[in-house]
Amino acid sequence: MAFEPAYLSLLLSGELKRRVEEAYRRLEQCDICPRECGVNRRQGELGTCRTGEQAVISSYGPHFGEEAPLVGVGGSGTVFFTHCNLHCQFCQNYEISQMGEGRPIEPEQLAAVFLGLQERGCHNINLVSPSHVVPQILAALLIAAEAGLRLPLVYNTGGYDSLKTLQLLDGVVDIYMPDMKYADADAAKRYSKVDNYPSVNQAAVKEMHRQVGDLFCDSRGIALRGLLVRHLVLSEGLAGTGEIARFLAASISTNTYINVMGQYRPCYKAHELPPLNRRVTRDEYDQAVNLVRKAGLDRLDERTARWILR
Ligand code: SF4
Repeated sequence: MAFEPAYLSLLLSGELKRRVEEAYRRLEQCDICPRECGVNRRQGELGTCRTGEQAVISSYGPHFGEEAPLVGVGGSGTVFFTHCNLHCQFCQNYEISQMGEGRPIEPEQLAAVFLGLQERGCHNINLVSPSHVVPQILAALLIAAEAGLRLPLVYNTGGYDSLKTLQLLDGVVDIYMPDMKYADADAAKRYSKVDNYPSVNQAAVKEMHRQVGDLFCDSRGIALRGLLVRHLVLSEGLAGTGEIARFLAASISTNTYINVMGQYRPCYKAHELPPLNRRVTRDEYDQAVNLVRKAGLDRLDERTARWILR
């Protein structure tokens, strides 16, 4: 049977339109993400994410550097949203996430971007840093789906997401790709300037998995639906890899698809924050992968496996 994205039935029932309206109402006293700033973004007030009523994007296009199940032959149709609800002091994209590089975009234009990526043969619409612009994404999706968008949406998030907002995405998003950055709240506060990251993140990942289940791919190995977790290894075990892996195995599924990322390099303010002022060593990376496997997870992104075999 041909693939149908989750949002199609919500479009046909009128529920997608209702979700857009509800999401925009919530911008008036913004609680779109767990920071719950309470500002009226529709009146131009700005909260921690520095984004008003309009979404801002920095770039878009087919991307071939993402996880294998997203890339296939046509690439992942990536849209980079400007600003972020996290303030990671080592962000590799800090010009976009922290300095605000990008241009405002109306939902009609964003819908045209989605449709253009479909036209170019991408396998999905990959929404990078979407947590603070969910209403604008839903509005664009409504327009694009009416005009023929049929690709699955990838919600590619730093993992600091509100349950109330994730419920707006239930039946809309097919592929959730959250980061699990820290198992320790103090480390999250120090390095990403955020409160309660581990508890918020773990609750969000549970809800994502409840909605879409384990990652499911077609016969070509291209992801259609499910959960794909990203975990960036930090030096001296700061990311809490073992604890995160044990959480995934015990509370989500031992069949969780995980990308254990070893490409950390110091960016933005990381040079002032030892031990984040250096790359992770091969030993640190190997130890992290061993902890993941020891927890019972063996569905690692293939680039991880290549790294281990080198
Ligand atoms: S989306 Fe932005 S304004 Fe709204 S609660 Fe989160 S950080 Fe604050």
